[in-house]
Amino acid sequence: MSLGSVPPLHEDRRPDGGTLMGSDDNFDIVVVGAGPVGLSFAASLAQSELKVAVVEQNTFDSLANPAFDGREIALTNASIRTLRELGAWDVIPASDKSALQGARVLNGSSAFALRFDPPSNSGEPLGVLVPNCRIREALFKIVRLQDRARLLCGHSVVDATNSQEGAVVTLSNGARLTARLVVAADSRLSATRDLLGIGADINRLGHSMLICRVRHERAHHQIAIEWFDHHQTIAMLPLAEGMSSLLLTLRSNEAYRLLAFDDDLFLSELTKRCRGRLGKMTLASKRHTYPLVTTWAHKFRAPSAALIGDAAIGMHPVTAHGFNIGLSSQKQLARGIMTACRDGRNVGDPDMLHIYERRLRLSAAPLYHATNILIGLYSRDHLAARLARHLGLRFAQHVPLVRHGISAELQR
Ligand SMILES: Cc1cc2nc3c(=O)[nH]c(=O)nc-3n(C[C@H](O)[C@H](O)[C@H](O)COP(=O)(O)OP(=O)(O)OC[C@H]3O[C@@H](n4cnc5c(N)ncnc54)[C@H](O)[C@@H]3O)c2cc1C
Repeated sequence: MSLGSVPPLHEDRRPDGGTLMGSDDNFDIVVVGAGPVGLSFAASLAQSELKVAVVEQNTFDSLANPAFDGREIALTNASIRTLRELGAWDVIPASDKSALQGARVLNGSSAFALRFDPPSNSGEPLGVLVPNCRIREALFKIVRLQDRARLLCGHSVVDATNSQEGAVVTLSNGARLTARLVVAADSRLSATRDLLGIGADINRLGHSMLICRVRHERAHHQIAIEWFDHHQTIAMLPLAEGMSSLLLTLRSNEAYRLLAFDDDLFLSELTKRCRGRLGKMTLASKRHTYPLVTTWAHKFRAPSAALIGDAAIGMHPVTAHGFNIGLSSQKQLARGIMTACRDGRNVGDPDMLHIYERRLRLSAAPLYHATNILIGLYSRDHLAARLARHLGLRFAQHVPLVRHGISAELQR
């Protein structure tokens, strides 16, 4: 594949997603999934000469104007820097950015709170909350302006084969794309990962997150609250003044029962469950539910293939780190690819992919496993678990290394 002879490519807007003909179906890299991580990865390759295709099952218009999906993503300062480098941060309206000045973790009816605050001399908040749809929208705007990136929307990937020589990806409209490297960014239940023969630990937790925005009379002071109560966990994420996002983690059948309530009944249930912490509340958005599934792929690479984002590691949302890790994973891979290109090596160079996999595993495994232990502790309600939670919070509060370590991780 000659890099010099490729004409500029733009998004494929044809209603059928376009059947690709001739040399148009040969790419250096095919990315499966135009979620926030797949799009970030394509944007990270903007400075390269590589010909990139991003395949997405959703339509062009739904990517250009993504609907609010309830998720408010808590971005670390490192993620904000990455989004700024990609040109996406400044595209997100200031009114959609809510600073996180601290977090408190509560256990049951105990008055004790484990506190996380930004270091007093840092001058930066712990992080910034941004709606997921705004991150996607901003990244999409960046990628569609890239000369050498092609967006193929409206068709899913239904087959993928790979070898040391390259990969072939088949779309649901029958189009076949060849690539030197295929990158799966198609969510935690990635079909491409399966097609590439990569297994994963998939943990369906039997719980779901029910999310909505509320307006409330008490001030939140930009402090997030994670409250582990009996049979439920409630997170309160501070948005604009007098507005928060509420995330209830419940057994799935209980979440769906609440989802079916009319607005008045739902609001009175919510007020009861929040025990007046935010004062009088009114609903400010539709409700959204997410069944909780965590995943860890057995490998993050295969010949001429790599996994990024949730396709590699699907974190539990309780630690608010899935996208942060995904953003860092795509950055590591893009850097490895550009270094390989500079050194005259292939974009699917096995040594480069091996290093990518090792680094990602080392950087993400501690948080992934610590989160799973935390979930185990907090999803059980017997006396021993409640006691362990109580002692755990006090231990963390009085061992600054633990607390500051977590704050630093959030701030990183
Ligand atoms: C309730 C909730 C709250 C969260 N809060 C946070 C937070 O505060 N901080 C944080 O860092 N993370 C958070 N996360 C995690 C974050 O949302 C994910 O890590 C992130 O969305 C992963 O992005 P992705 O691009 O890898 O995958 P996805 O967002 O799942 O995107 C995958 C894309 O691939 C497409 N696709 C799928 N299959 C195919 C196919 N066969 N062919 C073509 N296209 C396909 C999909 O349509 C989609 O567009 C939260 C998650 C949830 C559920």
